[in-house]
Amino acid sequence: MTGPYARVMLKLSGEVFGGGSVGVDPIVVHGVATQIAEVVKAGTQVAVVVGGGNFFRGAELQQGGMDRDRADYMGMLGTVMNCLALQDFLEKEGVQTRVQTAIAMGQIAEPYIPRRAERHLEKGRVVIFGAGSGMPYFSTDTVAAQRALEVGADVLLMGKQGVDGVYSADPKRDPSAVKFDELTYDDFLLKDLKVADATAISMARDNKLAMVFFGLDNPGSIVAVVSGEKIGTTVHA
Ligand code: UDP
Repeated sequence: MTGPYARVMLKLSGEVFGGGSVGVDPIVVHGVATQIAEVVKAGTQVAVVVGGGNFFRGAELQQGGMDRDRADYMGMLGTVMNCLALQDFLEKEGVQTRVQTAIAMGQIAEPYIPRRAERHLEKGRVVIFGAGSGMPYFSTDTVAAQRALEVGADVLLMGKQGVDGVYSADPKRDPSAVKFDELTYDDFLLKDLKVADATAISMARDNKLAMVFFGLDNPGSIVAVVSGEKIGTTVHA
């Protein structure tokens, strides 16, 4: 272990995998995998929850006329493709991995078994959690908070594409948006900031789970945040 954390939960939004487009950008995933490999080899245990917004978001498909539940299942299946891409590039870096999914798909992944996930982490394997919670109406942010708590991660690191922390407004749309270096959970909720969903933040608050929001556009950012460097936005009590 090199930094302040023995075990981290890394949430990678789907946008990261697509490099801003639909599908998976192998160059971007390779870059993320290289950094995760570096921190794992240095002794930090890493679990990952993967989003799926680069394929489908249930709420958007619902706007197009689909039934929300079925659209959400499509969203969850999309996350699994990202898991397999990350698994592939991590193994090419010589890191052992396991994918665990909340929807059973035995040919490609283990089912979600938290105690087994912890054993994998202890052995230095990266555990990649896919298919969200297996339940519609949830987000992968909330799953990241729940899995972080269940496997005993010291911190939840929220990796974002195109933004390097939490801002007062969307910096892509509002040039007057200000970045917060630190924020309390309550402020986050009161300001109704959209960078993560409120369920995830309130779960973190109620269970005193530390969170850091950071950008993935800088090639060294995962290594930096895992080693405790003050980047992005820290959310605390
Ligand atoms: N989803 C779901 N239940 C979950 C997690 C995800 O129904 O527990 C669906 C939901 O439709 C969501 C989609 O999967 O829009 C992709 O997940 P998310 O939007 O959280 O991905 P991200 O924004 O991180 O890319």
